[in-house]
Amino acid sequence: MAELSPDEKAAISHRGKGRTSVAAMARSALTDTPDPDTVVPSKAAGAAVSVVSNTSLILLKVVAGIVTGSVALLTEALHSSIDLVASIVAFFSVRMADEPADDDHPYGHEKIENVAAGIEGC
Ligand SMILES: [Zn+2]
Repeated sequence: MAELSPDEKAAISHRGKGRTSVAAMARSALTDTPDPDTVVPSKAAGAAVSVVSNTSLILLKVVAGIVTGSVALLTEALHSSIDLVASIVAFFSVRMADEPADDDHPYGHEKIENVAAGIEGC
């Protein structure tokens, strides 16, 4: 296995440092004045909003379905959970797409979004 240069090690450790939580990304997308410490790509922040909103929808639909005894609402909750899977796939793919080009992928990682779109379409 090839030994990494100090610069490569620094690049790898820095990559992890910029990671923020889904909730923090959603917050930064929804507020006009985001926390300067949580500077995030807008596509990832948008996908984070989608993850948070789908999770909220599932919880509300399950509670409403149980309270009212409505099977239709429980079916809706199931539908929203499929949407949640798609938004999670989108969230991770846009983050991977923003990774800079490397030796294995000299043209960058943006085409991962096409793969994700195919998965979400299934
Ligand atoms: Zn790569």
